[in-house]
Amino acid sequence: MLKPILPFAHELIQAAIEPGDFAIDATCGNGNDTVILSQAVGSNGKVLAFDVQKQAIEATKKRLFQYQLTNVELILDGHQHVEQYIPEERKQKLAGAIFNLGYLPRSDKQVITKPFTTITAIDAIAANLKCGGTIVCVVYYGHPGGEQEKQALLNHLATFDQDHFRVLHYGFINQKNNPPFILAIEKKSQRN
Ligand code: SAH
Repeated sequence: MLKPILPFAHELIQAAIEPGDFAIDATCGNGNDTVILSQAVGSNGKVLAFDVQKQAIEATKKRLFQYQLTNVELILDGHQHVEQYIPEERKQKLAGAIFNLGYLPRSDKQVITKPFTTITAIDAIAANLKCGGTIVCVVYYGHPGGEQEKQALLNHLATFDQDHFRVLHYGFINQKNNPPFILAIEKKSQRN
């Protein structure tokens, strides 16, 4: 009955997105989530996908080609610079964004997401969400540096104004080996 982490992360992001929407994959990695976002926004929508590693951008390009998806702009740059890539007409119209924190499996474990850049990106993206828009972060923290990022993120998101945002913390607390958990940020609509 309790949804595992990745299926639940995908369900949350898919629930926030409609055809024609604008979405961001902040850490495209191997491109699994990029494909999900791309399919959710459809041919009239648009996805920006970021990664700092060329290898990740290439892997994602390949996956998108396999699925014949053409609505994604791949950006070899840090997500902390996201603001400058959001087109003027899409500002504050973002439906969904996803982060996978940590390092890219089967690659250089030194290249990890970091507290300051992750928080800078989350703040910039949160400021551009439309009402009902959602950011989903899958937090992997079992590597060196992971615990600091986890704590920094929890502390920071706890300060988000509850009149404007709902912040969810979802995870299994009795599993071994630091399993990932979800932090999700929803911009409230006027109603709730
Ligand atoms: N740990 C997850 C995958 C995380 S992938 C799992 O096991 O599935 C994290 C990705 O973030 C990597 O591809 C890495 O290159 C990328 N990354 C690290 N810092 C970044 C930054 N500042 N901006 C964008 N991507 C970044």
